Amino acid sequence: MELNIPEIYGCYVFNDKIMRNKLPKDVYKALRKTIQNDTHLQLDIANSVAVAMKEWAIENGATHYTHWFQPMTNVTAEKHDSFIEPTGDGQVIMDFSGKALVKGEPDASSFPSGGLRATFEARGYTAWDPTSPAFIKDKTLYIPTAFCSYSGEALDKKTPLLRSMETLNRAAVKMLHLLGHEDVKHISITIGAEQEYFLVDKDVYQNRKDLKFTGRTLFGAPAPKGQELEDHYFGTLKPRIAAFMHELDLELWKLGIPVKTKHNEGAPAQHELAPVFETANVAVDHNQLTMEIMKKLADKHNMVCLLHEKPFAGINGSGKHDNWSLTTDTGVNLFNPGKNPAENTTFLVFLAAVLKSVDDYADLLRISVASAGNDHRLGGHEAPPAIVSVYLGDDLYKLLRSIQKDREIDQQDKVEMDIAKVLPHFLQDTSDRNRTSPFAFTGNKFEFRMLGSSASVADPNVYLNTAMAETLNIFRERLENVPAEELDAEIRKLIQDTMANHRRVIFNGNGYTQEWVEEAEKRGLFNLVSTPEALEQLTSEKNKKLLLDHKIFTEQELYSRYEILLDNYMKTVSLEANTMVEMIQKDLLPAIVSYTEQLARTASLKKSVIEDVSLVSEVALIKKLSQAQTDLYNGIEKLKTDNAAAKKIEDHLEAAKFYQSVVLKDMADIRVFADDAEAVMPESMLPYPTYGQLLFSI
Ligand code: ADP
Ligand code: MG
Repeated sequence: MELNIPEIYGCYVFNDKIMRNKLPKDVYKALRKTIQNDTHLQLDIANSVAVAMKEWAIENGATHYTHWFQPMTNVTAEKHDSFIEPTGDGQVIMDFSGKALVKGEPDASSFPSGGLRATFEARGYTAWDPTSPAFIKDKTLYIPTAFCSYSGEALDKKTPLLRSMETLNRAAVKMLHLLGHEDVKHISITIGAEQEYFLVDKDVYQNRKDLKFTGRTLFGAPAPKGQELEDHYFGTLKPRIAAFMHELDLELWKLGIPVKTKHNEGAPAQHELAPVFETANVAVDHNQLTMEIMKKLADKHNMVCLLHEKPFAGINGSGKHDNWSLTTDTGVNLFNPGKNPAENTTFLVFLAAVLKSVDDYADLLRISVASAGNDHRLGGHEAPPAIVSVYLGDDLYKLLRSIQKDREIDQQDKVEMDIAKVLPHFLQDTSDRNRTSPFAFTGNKFEFRMLGSSASVADPNVYLNTAMAETLNIFRERLENVPAEELDAEIRKLIQDTMANHRRVIFNGNGYTQEWVEEAEKRGLFNLVSTPEALEQLTSEKNKKLLLDHKIFTEQELYSRYEILLDNYMKTVSLEANTMVEMIQKDLLPAIVSYTEQLARTASLKKSVIEDVSLVSEVALIKKLSQAQTDLYNGIEKLKTDNAAAKKIEDHLEAAKFYQSVVLKDMADIRVFADDAEAVMPESMLPYPTYGQLLFSI
């Protein structure tokens, strides 16, 4: 059966084509203007758009609408209202007003607010983001919105993202004008979010309390087979997986999400999906939808989609690559080096700006990916280290070095520079391919790879955009009053200075080695290995200044985020600790006792039959299991005490650090005892499925 993909694509989206068809011409124009220039929408226009949206939604089977938003939880929120409006005579009409389209008033009191709620009203409001298209899902019209407290404080991930996009747009356009591109009116920030995930069989999953409650396995002896054969990456898709992926593509296409690539990833049961890039806020919305639909469809296929950053110990975790670039409304990708990067001033200025931004705000980028889950992944053997560095590839690095040295010294480097000039298309061959870099130049974009698989793509882009805006403004101030004939020379000096001051952030080598950790320390780079350590930097004077100056956050908003992130961290670890206690007490210890009893009974029966029978294995196993029982018992007693102690610590940062250094450590110790015991127990007596069953049953 032929599938008409172009026809299916976006069939549930209130897209530009539908708007043009459905809206009166002047209304359409006004709406386009709002979308393109972020101008305010008049109520009469909103009313007219609402009517068209409602008609289209009803034609497509919708009965309800919802303001869809992204609170500080990494998942989306929605409250459905039907279109019905009683007419007073026992009948109803289907109604949807401009006011209902533009603004919603959900109760904000049940979403994380990090203290904002204490000082402000419990009410919140959602405001339509007309730059991200509305769509239909589950017979409901979804309206993408931003979510604020009643007095305007951002309570979501989208508001700061939109603010950061605006500030970067302004700074970049001004810089482009200064560089002679006066025709540019707007730049768009583009993001392509590659998504990794695991699929496990639902029946197997159901018997793992840890996966159900915490999203990751808290125990599990390694399976005989792991990923050592490297036979999964790009391997043939198993039929169940292929069926799931096919349906996923279709569902996402219907929602206008341009998914393009799918393949098996490195670890067993791990897969990846990548869309074609889109404007930042739309890409963020689409990634949220993608994650949600992945979970829903996996369930339909009797599987469970795990989005945790590190569901299994000892094998790769899952990340999300944030491919990021800037494109002008005249169609130029600012990170496209072109055939002759040495002469591409605009490219070099923006490239230098990235170096400075990432170096100055490396801690913010690290913070943007900080979570209890991602801590298990960052620094693991397959994931980027917690140190933020930039990979440029040898050729681009050489080019920048030659520009830098040209000022300091001599002719010889000039030659190097000339070589760089004549190298044909050199970047395509040598850029990227260093998979260990957390922030890699990949030909015409940067790829930030520290983000965990379950996180919203919004956060890193908030900081990246804002840091870029700041740097571009600083650059502009320096260049602004330079006479035209001296501009080129001053730009060259600017790049030289940037290299002199920020070269330390460039690292082209293997980021997974201990040598790099030591080298980075010498260079004075941050190495924020855990979430509490990273979060401590969020409110540093430098970061506060950046975020407040660019109006990304008010001081209150910033502190509220800090509180929410710390709180999230503590709750996650505490929940894991509780789950571990439950599984040990209720499941593993009883299983160990039963097996010990069976062994002891076998031993005495054997002895009653044969006086001098060898009981070596029974004795050894009983000893081992008795020891494990004691260790596990003591371990969870300590864990319970420490988890309770953590809750009593009043200072949140101190408490989070206690969770990190004490509670997680307890859990790691317990895990060793549990996994050792598991390894000698018969599968039939284990209270939970093994790694082998989890990873290889599809
Ligand atoms: P890989 O990184 O595996 O080599 P690609 O380079 O094809 O693969 O693209 C990876 C991701 O980067 C895709 O989601 C793609 O859409 C995205 N991407 C490509 N160009 C840009 C761009 N200019 N801005 C943002 N993302 C981009
Ligand atoms: Mg990639």
